[in-house]
Amino acid sequence: MTTEPVPDTVGDLVCSARRCGATATSGLLWNNPALHTPARRKVWLACPEHVEHLSQYLDTRGFLRDVVDVDTLVHDEPAGLDAR
Ligand SMILES: [Zn+2]
Repeated sequence: MTTEPVPDTVGDLVCSARRCGATATSGLLWNNPALHTPARRKVWLACPEHVEHLSQYLDTRGFLRDVVDVDTLVHDEPAGLDAR
């Protein structure tokens, strides 16, 4: 029996790099086995300028699992007019 990894949902598509507010185009899916269950996928968002830096950061720690287009990620949907 296999468990399909499920990426966390994402909010605003803003690059996760420090002091970068650019629109993200890629999602870096990662997992820290010491903290997360195997099917968990944390998501960092990255603009074209930072996708390589951020993916290398995760890869050197052995956390990087996949790099995907942001279009494939599930967005947090606002609950509607009743949302605060
Ligand atoms: Zn960036």
